Amino acid sequence: MSTQKTDVLIVGGGPAGAACAGVLKQNGVDCLVLDKAPFPRTKPCAGWITPEIFRELNLSPTDYPHGLTTFRSFQIAFPRAKFKLPVHQYAIRRYEFDAWLLRRSGARVVNHEVKTIVPRSDGYDIDGKFWGKYLVGAGGTHCPVYRTFFQRDAPRKADALVIAQEDEFPYQTTDQQCRLWFFEHDLPGYAWFVPKTNGHVNFGIGGLAGALKQQGETLKQHWELLQRQLEAAGLLRHYTRRPVGHYYYRRARSQRVRQENAFLAGDAASLATYDMGEGIRAAIMSGQRVAQAIVHDSAYGISNIPKYSLPSLLKSGVKSLVSLS
Ligand SMILES: Cc1cc2nc3c(=O)[nH]c(=O)nc-3n(C[C@H](O)[C@H](O)[C@H](O)COP(=O)(O)OP(=O)(O)OC[C@H]3O[C@@H](n4cnc5c(N)ncnc54)[C@H](O)[C@@H]3O)c2cc1C
Repeated sequence: MSTQKTDVLIVGGGPAGAACAGVLKQNGVDCLVLDKAPFPRTKPCAGWITPEIFRELNLSPTDYPHGLTTFRSFQIAFPRAKFKLPVHQYAIRRYEFDAWLLRRSGARVVNHEVKTIVPRSDGYDIDGKFWGKYLVGAGGTHCPVYRTFFQRDAPRKADALVIAQEDEFPYQTTDQQCRLWFFEHDLPGYAWFVPKTNGHVNFGIGGLAGALKQQGETLKQHWELLQRQLEAAGLLRHYTRRPVGHYYYRRARSQRVRQENAFLAGDAASLATYDMGEGIRAAIMSGQRVAQAIVHDSAYGISNIPKYSLPSLLKSGVKSLVSLS
């Protein structure tokens, strides 16, 4: 088989890879997205997205062709306080959202699991089958571009490791509130319950792996507590499914995101926010910025990608209150 050549090889077709491909295509740059999963694919994620995501994509929420849930408040619980926080936020199903984003990028997509990447003087060779002048690592936590070019000299920090467990399934819930429980039963993280418009629900739990280990606890124990709590509150009935586990790294103080013509974006670059582990927005923003750096032959930086979620969450609440008054 002859080698497929392109200007930019993108490893991973999630939000980071799709956003990068979209900007490259808009600017007439040829690219090829390689993903080990055929799309649509399942991605463990609560699917909470902010209005800023649509702004970054230069779209309106009404352009989204699938189920888009709008939340005007979040029901929030801390061990000693419960309150309703006014917000203006959305939820999607990643199964639908990611496939839509990738499709609308207009890029060529090949279903291929990347194993070996070899740097050449004039570009990058993947598995002897694909060649690109530029290489974008958008393959999430396990990205082979990170492993090949960044892991040794810029390893991820163990204290940034977030472990999570979640499930999403068709479920008719009578309660349409998005609920978040912070630090419940000393969990170094939070749990969520997100009902979605198209008859699905997503619930899950995530926390800092190092802190959990120090407490001598496992995420499974916290999952069982959450399940009992949801059942007691009447939010869940007869749950017998198996949740999906995943891990990723939240934003570190400094990290390397470029080495020569190889770039990292999204979870491959550990960009999920420090306070809430929100990663879709950072994936989209970083993917777009990689593409702009390639198009304009300019520097690629992540310093203007938000490190925290809370400020924009609170801002959306204030805006929502003003628009309702
Ligand atoms: C349980 C959980 C809940 C979360 N909830 C939220 C939330 O509500 N809101 C939010 O903003 N963020 C959330 N996040 C974080 C968010 O899911 C990620 O930050 C986001 O998916 C990162 O996007 P990405 O494009 O970088 O990576 P991904 O979405 O992981 O995409 C990477 C792609 O690369 C492909 N790939 C990987 N390896 C290879 C290979 N070797 N060859 C070819 N392809 C490969 C994969 O198949 C995948 O399609 C959550 C995370 C978890 C684990």
